[in-house]
Order: sequence, then structure tokens, then C-alpha cells
Amino acid sequence: LSALLVTLTVTACGDHGGTPADGSGEAAAKPVVGVILPDDEASSRWVEQDSPKLGQALRFAGVEPVIEHADNDEARFASVADDLIRRRVDVLVTTPLSAVGGAAVEAKAKAAGIPVINYDRISMGGHADYYVSFDNLDVGELQAEGLLKCLGDKPGAQIIELQGSPADNNATLFADGQRRKLGPLYDRGALKLVESHAVDKWDVAAGKAAFTRMLDANGGRVDGVVAANDGLAGAAIDVLKARGLAAGRVPVTGQDATLDGLRAILRGDQCMTVYKPIRDEAEAAARLAAAVAKGDLSGADDLATGNTRDNVSRRDVKSVLLGADLVTRDNVRRLAVSENVVKPAELCAGD
Ligand code: BGC
Repeated sequence: LSALLVTLTVTACGDHGGTPADGSGEAAAKPVVGVILPDDEASSRWVEQDSPKLGQALRFAGVEPVIEHADNDEARFASVADDLIRRRVDVLVTTPLSAVGGAAVEAKAKAAGIPVINYDRISMGGHADYYVSFDNLDVGELQAEGLLKCLGDKPGAQIIELQGSPADNNATLFADGQRRKLGPLYDRGALKLVESHAVDKWDVAAGKAAFTRMLDANGGRVDGVVAANDGLAGAAIDVLKARGLAAGRVPVTGQDATLDGLRAILRGDQCMTVYKPIRDEAEAAARLAAAVAKGDLSGADDLATGNTRDNVSRRDVKSVLLGADLVTRDNVRRLAVSENVVKPAELCAGD
């Protein structure tokens, strides 16, 4: 990976990808890969990280990227997809807002003979040829682990859960992963689940309203918050702050290692986040898309050695699933710097 990064740095601005792999010279057009990102407000990752990293990685892989954004709007997701299909892109890479919307686009692409790669989110019941993501059950387990560490020994601690969009399969996996660790504790009364709410479209304002309602319904008492990502963690922290319950008094989980999340950890407002190396995800998707676009299906299969079960379509989807890391106050600076997630000065600006 580091060798690849060095090469990237040295050649990222050049036209190094211009000569087609078949050596047919400058005139041959590069394959075009269309990408549709979802852009939930609750995460800055799509615009700040995925978009530039995918662009860079796709160009490096020798294909031409066309990166579009669905702005959290299902109708826009569908119309952007229609445009890309009409343009006859060679491969379509999608992060669907919902399984239904994603599957509809995949069916159209398939009918037009365009292969589809699901990026980060899979459309259950869909028709994607490949899937690139993280081990999202593990992400949920890391969130539970972080919460338990921050809670310490607090028998009967009351927990409120702010889960992600019910239409996003990842949100289900995060919740399932958390439940693997927290479920047995809820069952034997070591922890008490006050209420769990899945926030439509991962919307921060809706998360804030839901958290306020759940807290009020419990007489203002909460000892720990499972928030499915840093955006929803921020929503819970705002409410806790207004009630004098922030700065570590009530541990809150997160995910994505956003700048806001990392700063909140340093301030002591947020207990943990999950760092998912988006650079690796983008590079894996780009390599796969380039292989598919060039018709090298056995090369693509060699890259996607994992499998994801789609119980709706009753099929296994060839996958690349990457690992994630737990970030707490103990390793936040080290990780942010070594992984180049943020610059140390940016981190400190929020102290
Ligand atoms: C992604 C998370 C992100 C969330 C909201 C999920 O599908 O895996 O990283 O926080 O969407 O955008």
C-alpha cells in the first residue's frame, strides 16, 4: 500500500493513466466509470473523503471518473443514474440511499449491459456484480466495545440507542454488531436498554429530536448513548450539553473519524469513533472498477475474494471487505497523524 501511495504522490497530477493497457496508443479513449455517492448530512465523509479519493484512485487505475452526488434524495439518485446509463458509462459504482432505489437502478444498468459495483452500502435484493465495503458487523462490535470501556463498572446503566437509517443495510449491520456484545448484558440486566430509534436518512436534526424525545420519556436519565456515527453522536452531545450531561459524564459512541468526531473525543464529549480507512476502500473499488471496465473479469474476481450473502435475492455477492479500528482518547492523536486523517493543527484547533 505504501508503495502505491508513494507512486500516487509522485504521479497523481500526470497523465500516467493515458496509455491503455493494450498499448494501442494515446488515441484510444479510457473507459468511463460513473459513481453516485449518497451525501447524508450526518456524515461529512462522502464529500470530503470518498469523492476526492475515488477520483484519484480511479484516474490512477487508468479509467475516467464521473463522480455525482445524490444529495440524500432518492429521486435525484435515480435521475443521476439514468443520465449515467444514457451516457453508457462502462461501469456504475453506487452507494444507494435505499435497497429499493439501489435495486431499481441496478436493474436498469443490467438491462443496458452496464456492470454495477455497490460501494460501501449493498442493495439487498439488488443486482450488483460486486460489493466493496468494511466488515460492518465488526464496526458495530467496536462501537459496543468502546461504550463498555467508557462506561466502566456501572451496573444497570441506562442506554439510549440512536441508530442509522432503516433503509441502509449498513445501519442494520452496525446495530447487529453492537447487539452481539450488548444483547447479553441487556438480557441479564447488567445494562438497561431504554429505547432504540433508527433515524431516517441519518438526518442530524431528526436524530436530535428523537434523542430529546427518548431522554424526556425516561425522565431525563441516561448513562450511555449508542450513536451509529459521528453525526448522530454530535446530535446527542448537543442535547446532553444543554442539560449539563456532556464532557464524559454520559459516554457517546460514534463512527467515521470525522474531524468533528475526533475533536469531540479530544474534548472528552465523545467516548469513541471507528476509523475506516476510506483511502483503502476507494482504492479497492477503483481497482475492481478498472478491471471490470477493461473486461478483465478474472482479474476482478481475484480482487473480490470475499462474499456477502443477499438473503433477499438469495445469492452471494463477490466482495472486498476491509477492517476498521477503534479510536478512543488514548490513540486519537497517534492514529489521526499516522493515518493522515487530519493534520495535528486541525485537531487542536477544536480543543
Ligand atoms: C456508512 C457510514 C456513514 C453513514 C451515513 C453508512 O452507510 O457506512 O460510514 O456514517 O452511512 O452517511
